[in-house]
Amino acid sequence: MDPLGPRARLGRPSMSEHDSFSPASDLRHRLAAAYRHLSRLGLNSGSAGNVSCRLEDGALVTPTGASAETIDAASLVEITLDGETRGPGIPSSEWAMHTEIYRRYPQAQAIVHTHSDACVALACLRSGIPAFHYMIATFGGDDVRCAPYATFGTETLARLAADALVDRSACLLANHGMIGWGADIEQAIATATRLETLARQYWMSLQVGPPVLLDPQEMRIVRDRFRAYGSTRLATRLPDR
Ligand SMILES: [Zn+2]
Repeated sequence: MDPLGPRARLGRPSMSEHDSFSPASDLRHRLAAAYRHLSRLGLNSGSAGNVSCRLEDGALVTPTGASAETIDAASLVEITLDGETRGPGIPSSEWAMHTEIYRRYPQAQAIVHTHSDACVALACLRSGIPAFHYMIATFGGDDVRCAPYATFGTETLARLAADALVDRSACLLANHGMIGWGADIEQAIATATRLETLARQYWMSLQVGPPVLLDPQEMRIVRDRFRAYGSTRLATRLPDR
């Protein structure tokens, strides 16, 4: 069974780096590895970003102040969707964005939040990414929205981010970064990677643009084609509508 799946039953972990295999320890190792991988991909530097995955009755999130150098499986923090911490550790200051998304979008099984360069550059314009390229459809619609600005770590930011994710798997956060979800942590990282690539390409296009945008009918055709490839991982990333 996929330990990130909605039917996974994950007990209270008791971790060390030499823990014997269990779904809970496997999940912790995957999440810590995913956080380190974000840094190698150039999507996260220092302790700016954070990742999480859904548990049956809560979420597992990176601890506050974690970096690729310091993260390990044992340091991940388990919280309820009301923000109550279970066990040791202090969760990322952005835990509320994660729990709000898990509460509102049952299909979200893992979340990646980054301050990746191109996403931040566009988010500072406080505008989303329009249908300049057909791959924008992989996020679920004709654009990627930019959530209005709110102070980091606040319930207001959590609500605004979740609002910007209606029918979408990722959004920009004004003057801040991006957040996206997936059916598992690997898909959530793929979402963040794809968004950063498209943000960079849109930014490049704007240098010589403005780009010609695809119209809603063309984008609908693209989404239908992605869904027709029902067995592909790309299609499974499309949010249910
Ligand atoms: Zn942030």
